[in-house]
Amino acid sequence: MCRVCGGSVEEFLDLGRQPLSDAFRDPADTRPEYFFRLAVGQCATCTMVQLVEEVPRERMFHEDYPYHSSGSAVMREHFQRLAGRLLETELSGADPFVVEIGCNDGIMLRTIGQAGVRHLGVEPSGGVAEVARSNGVNVRTDFFQESTAVEVREEHGPADVIYAANTFCHIPYVESIFAGIDALLGPDGVFVFEDPYLGDIVAKTSFDQIYDEHFYLFSARSVAAMARHFGFELVDVERLEVHGGEVRYTLARLGARTPAPAVAELLAEEEEADLANLTTLRRFAGNVHTIRDDLRTLLKDLRAQGKRVVAYGATAKSATVANFCGIGPDLVEFVCDTTPAKQGRLTPGSHIPVRPADAFAEPYPDYALLFAWNHAEEIMGKEQEYEQAGGRWILYVPKVTVE
Ligand SMILES: [Zn+2]
Repeated sequence: MCRVCGGSVEEFLDLGRQPLSDAFRDPADTRPEYFFRLAVGQCATCTMVQLVEEVPRERMFHEDYPYHSSGSAVMREHFQRLAGRLLETELSGADPFVVEIGCNDGIMLRTIGQAGVRHLGVEPSGGVAEVARSNGVNVRTDFFQESTAVEVREEHGPADVIYAANTFCHIPYVESIFAGIDALLGPDGVFVFEDPYLGDIVAKTSFDQIYDEHFYLFSARSVAAMARHFGFELVDVERLEVHGGEVRYTLARLGARTPAPAVAELLAEEEEADLANLTTLRRFAGNVHTIRDDLRTLLKDLRAQGKRVVAYGATAKSATVANFCGIGPDLVEFVCDTTPAKQGRLTPGSHIPVRPADAFAEPYPDYALLFAWNHAEEIMGKEQEYEQAGGRWILYVPKVTVE
């Protein structure tokens, strides 16, 4: 049943048994791993694309949640730019107040706080919330839901902006979120959120955007329908290149603002691509299976030739690729990653050892499977010596290629 409107959900892609994407495992740990069936469907009524099986939130967003937003220079710049723009527009009135749902390590609110603007991050993962605090950001360690929003409003007054980056699509229980936004947002306030875009996922066959944390894969059409369902309206959209292709959506109370022309333009683009058609989504599922077959064949061939293959970036999204394609330590020697909390551990489900970034060059492998393909430009720029040494990159989005 659709978590937005209660309509029936038609499944179009089954990515099999998958672990929690961030459950990096201590090699000494012998307890059984948690697995769930990762399958995606579309609501026949509101067109929302969503996971068929839900993972309990406490399993995903806990004390040790390892993703830190500030890890990438590109992302730091992205959020600084957004903060600057919000300060000039929505937050330029008298004594403005902004709330961020899932503020992570405070990458965005830091700039807001430095400008002297009232702000609050609501972040359930204790570890990253602590980092945000040390960056001078006000944080409440909590899940954002109606009860939280009511308390925040009582304490701080109405919000001019409620913002969420790569968080809103994580939350299946949208009804409580919208009730919270309704309670907290001022009459002319906006709810701004950015998440991976279904249009990009289908166009690029970036199926690794599908994992436990990404419960919804939004399109302008499904977000507009969801907004209406809860008394809000989609008033602006902006395509973003980060994280492999996202859209930043702006919602206002129904009738409070005139929608920008960009909304109708993106809706028309989706119509043109037939994005809401189940046939399009089934074709996408077929392309995903082709990538799996091609990637497995390539890695097995390289192994048969005695080549060394290492993976680059133990990203959350790589869990889907490794587990769906059956890539383990038999095909990939190790994966290097800059996150200390992941080093010395095994990737979830697929059990590939994670080693520090400098292991990559000791010595360079013949091939590097680029799990962090959405940061390809930044990484390839940094690793020019690897290419000069004859190293090749393996990419699998939008199809399997060796560069
Ligand atoms: Zn629905």
